[in-house]
Amino acid sequence: MADIKGKSALITGGASGLGEATTRRLHAEGAFVTIADIQEERATELVAELGERARFVTTDVTDEAQVQAAVDAAVEAAPLWATVSCAGIGHPQQTYHHRKGPLPIASFERVVRINLFGTFNAVRLSAAAMADNEPDENGERGVLVNTASVAAFDGQIGQVSYSASKGAIVGMTLPVARDLARYGIRCMTIAPGLFDTPLLAELPQDVRDALGAQVPFPPRLGKPAEYADTAAFIISQPLLNGETIRLDGAIRMAPK
Ligand code: NAD
Repeated sequence: MADIKGKSALITGGASGLGEATTRRLHAEGAFVTIADIQEERATELVAELGERARFVTTDVTDEAQVQAAVDAAVEAAPLWATVSCAGIGHPQQTYHHRKGPLPIASFERVVRINLFGTFNAVRLSAAAMADNEPDENGERGVLVNTASVAAFDGQIGQVSYSASKGAIVGMTLPVARDLARYGIRCMTIAPGLFDTPLLAELPQDVRDALGAQVPFPPRLGKPAEYADTAAFIISQPLLNGETIRLDGAIRMAPK
């Protein structure tokens, strides 16, 4: 099992929700964590709380130079071994609606730009840094963990932009793994179901309970720590490569 202790981990969207839980988890395992996020206040608080081995670089994942600066900051702390991409947004709107008209292409592009291009920015720039690492005893140099969604497979009404972006993250998982195999860098994707993050925390408790009850088992929302455990397991397990893992309690989303 590969060990993240004493190595760097870069977490995009690492200030909140699934990313925050991953930041905490990898830090607890002894990693040097670099949070790449646009939420300065939350990230600064988290870094202050974690103390040693934690840093924050204000990063919009769609900005190449900012992602490079975050990668550089991570490498400065220790060799970059894991990049977990959690930065993402949703913007529900239907393809066409008789009152609203066709979905504006700018809205579609914004979601794809942040979720897909942002993830690929982190992937390609992290891979370039990881390729310089000394390989471990397995010949491994690093791991990329991306975040899709069950909406990549069962996108609901109004999720066309989100599903397209997440479906593309699933689609690039295998070719990225194949491209980087010669360098000993793995690429995996997690497709979460319904998770209890700040996104859902804004909903009333009864709505959250109803959402959780749709999950066959366990009939509740996922805990961010369960996502973080999965990311940590992927990082530690050399045979996991080029695949997407649904983390969803067997939910299959209905049209709405
Ligand atoms: P969240 O809103 O709590 O966290 C997302 C983080 O991404 C935030 O800190 C935000 O500031 C950051 N971010 C947004 N745009 C950014 C940008 N351009 N550059 C850098 N950072 C940016 O949401 P979450 O629920 O933790 O979601 C994390 C990921 O998991 C997202 O990709 C989301 O699509 C995916 N996901 C979440 C769920 C769920 O139920 N919560 C389900 C499936 C997939």
